[in-house]
Amino acid sequence: MAFSRVSPFRYGSLSSLIPYVSSPSSLSPQVRTFTLSASISTPHPSPPSLLTASPKASDRWRPMCLYYTQGKCTKMDDPTHLETFNHNCSRELQVNAANFQHLQSQHLDFFLVLDLEGKIEILEFPVLMINAKTMDVVDLFHRFVRPSEMSEQRINEYIEGKYGKLGVDRVWHDTAIPFMEVIQQFEAWLTQHHLWTKEMGGSLDQAAFVTCGNWDLKTKVPQQCKVSKMKLPPYFMEWINLKDVYLNFYKRRATGMMTMMKELRIPLLGSHHLGIDDTKNIARVLQRMLADGALLQITARRNADSPENVEFLFKNRIR
Ligand SMILES: [Zn+2]
Repeated sequence: MAFSRVSPFRYGSLSSLIPYVSSPSSLSPQVRTFTLSASISTPHPSPPSLLTASPKASDRWRPMCLYYTQGKCTKMDDPTHLETFNHNCSRELQVNAANFQHLQSQHLDFFLVLDLEGKIEILEFPVLMINAKTMDVVDLFHRFVRPSEMSEQRINEYIEGKYGKLGVDRVWHDTAIPFMEVIQQFEAWLTQHHLWTKEMGGSLDQAAFVTCGNWDLKTKVPQQCKVSKMKLPPYFMEWINLKDVYLNFYKRRATGMMTMMKELRIPLLGSHHLGIDDTKNIARVLQRMLADGALLQITARRNADSPENVEFLFKNRIR
């Protein structure tokens, strides 16, 4: 997918599906109350005034086409397929201009929301690129990852146990590629978006990864790099742990994505533990925090001389 930096979806005609609550600006984050009364299980709790059009049948939630997210859908001319699967990566992530009044000027231009899957080896690598000024989705990078050090039989069991339950084991088998290839394609994607170049090396340009916890970038990526016999790419040296920003902004401890979503009354969409869906849900938490006025800053940084040492930059943080 070749997207320009300007989102083609900005101010699109689709109804805002994000359950934003406009909070009085006089309230500081710590005493802000949430006035939305819709229950968490309501699929589209946006107040009617935020809707730009009445919901159509085509607006109902549909699972993403996981071939499309990886640039591999061959059924774009099949109406039944298009009816069944969502091919718009920024659905559920539309923002409404009414929610911009508390938006802070951020130090970064883009946030790369990342949520890896796979406990033994990485199985899924989804990244959503969000514009810090408009909160729009600019682009998505998504790949299923084939483990490097497991037997075929072990992989089959692993995938059936994890993705079989979600009904996406077949697409995983059809599309998964080794971590090293994923990283090569990811670097091409970063370069295409002017966020990083191999020649220049170093950290991201005006962008930072946003994760839910430190596990993804502190632990899992370096582990997988070892298994895949690669050097740790230099753009994984720092990141923003959304849970730490959440703690310091709302003055509330949230141990995970589900807690943040529950507290902010954002309904869960898709399948929890399908990386692409978790990434979108984390991005919705991020959009909401931006709309509430949070300033997103780097929370963790590796030591340049000894990258295994991570320095945590917030005094108050989730341990
Ligand atoms: Zn498709």
